[in-house]
Amino acid sequence: MTEIFKNLIAGERVGGSNASRNINPSNTNDVVGEYAQGSVEDLNNAVAAAKAAFPAWSRTTPQERYEILKKASDEILARKEELGRLLSREEGKTLPEGIGEATRAGQIFAFFAGECLRLAGEAIPSIRPGVGVEVTREPVGIIGMITPWNFPIAIPGWKIAPALAYGNCVVIKPADLVPGSAWALVDIIQRAGLPKGVLNLVMGRGSVVGQALLEHKDVHAISFTGSVSTGRKVAAACIASNPMKKVQLEMGGKNPLVVLDDADLKLAVETAVNGAFFSTGQRCTASSRLIVTDGIHDRFVEAAVERMKGLVVDDALKAGTHIGPVVDQSQLDQDLKYLAIAKDEGAKLAWGGEVLSRESPGFYMQPALFTEATNAMRISREEVFGPVASVIRAKNYEEALAIANDTEFGLAAGICTTSLKHATHFKRNSEAGMVMVNLPTAGVDYHVPFGGRKGSSYGPREQGAYAREFYTTVKTAYTLA
Ligand code: NAD
Repeated sequence: MTEIFKNLIAGERVGGSNASRNINPSNTNDVVGEYAQGSVEDLNNAVAAAKAAFPAWSRTTPQERYEILKKASDEILARKEELGRLLSREEGKTLPEGIGEATRAGQIFAFFAGECLRLAGEAIPSIRPGVGVEVTREPVGIIGMITPWNFPIAIPGWKIAPALAYGNCVVIKPADLVPGSAWALVDIIQRAGLPKGVLNLVMGRGSVVGQALLEHKDVHAISFTGSVSTGRKVAAACIASNPMKKVQLEMGGKNPLVVLDDADLKLAVETAVNGAFFSTGQRCTASSRLIVTDGIHDRFVEAAVERMKGLVVDDALKAGTHIGPVVDQSQLDQDLKYLAIAKDEGAKLAWGGEVLSRESPGFYMQPALFTEATNAMRISREEVFGPVASVIRAKNYEEALAIANDTEFGLAAGICTTSLKHATHFKRNSEAGMVMVNLPTAGVDYHVPFGGRKGSSYGPREQGAYAREFYTTVKTAYTLA
């Protein structure tokens, strides 16, 4: 009988009512493992365990929490190749990308280990004589986490690490498509010495386990990353619950990369191809709109297509693969649907878009580049979440900036230019939460805030020291001495 990877509830391994098969998208004959599917009862037990653990955990010393997070970081980093391989096997990003993501998770835990020791308050003189005012931060309580499939270890990591660092208890429901990395991460943290019940993992369906987490009255806050449509439901449920839950949403993007006439062509092409197609374009920060000014447009398209012809699309675990498979059949169907929509709307397919066969059965697709796209087309307005980008022609910088900002999203935006004036103006006037100059829109540091504006994000930023805005609550105390 195959081993079933179980949920973690109150420090115990608990089987779900069902199990689901975690399939390798590079080779659908390869089953990564069988993972328990939790029930509403499992979720309720997990929240009860977190509630029971909270009084003691929230009063641990910063040093105790530091030791656990640091130990978890050390193990993640020591096992980064094995964890990266598991991640690539279940999600389909290439092995170097998988190892990079596992490394990032380890670094995040080291950063938040340090944050345990840095949490400070303020002493402020009162406007009243003899009175002192102290402003301190306390843990929020029980945090529910719901995560997407495209960063199976980094996103659970950048939510769990700050939650624990600031003294909260956690119930996490990872994406049902890729539970393996989250399972391995939670296992590491638990063995790093965490008291039972502080961190609980319940795998399973969003509509069952996720929904029950949103509705549970003992959960104080929800940190969600995923699509806009699910994010809306999450926010609505958090507001409808009594008491209302604190909520943080990180959602989709339609990120622009502006390429100006004065750009270094080679750098611009590298930046665009990396931002649009690496990780199979399945990144919320992917550059899916390439806004290119007239004077460089044709040279850029020609060089980009040449560069794309050299991209090797193959098994994520194979050496030499640049682009792994799409994550599953339904995502591949969505990508193909958008190719058809773009063609119908009049965009021209300059390269790619074919479904590919490889040695092993998987969801392989040649990255696709459209030209003659306008910003009004659906391909320019809706998130595809695959290896698909379109080039939109602009007359000049001013028009390119206007197009870049003409979107419901606002996660990341980039510009390739050698003009300090335009780079400076773009950084100031881009309506995105993260702005890159001569760098891909995807690819960020782990110690600084991450998040967007408009339809891409809602609530306080994630990552870096800014994470404390969500994972702590402020208390103002007055004392008459
Ligand atoms: P999704 O919205 O389909 O699912 C996200 C999570 O929500 C999953 O765990 C899912 O099981 C759960 N869920 C689904 N329905 C639910 C419900 N009714 N109640 C509670 N939970 C529910 O997203 P996905 O397909 O897993 O991920 C892709 C999306 O995530 C893209 O839109 C991408 O841009 C976004 N994303 C954003 C960021 C960011 O930081 N901004 C990072 C990565 C991915």
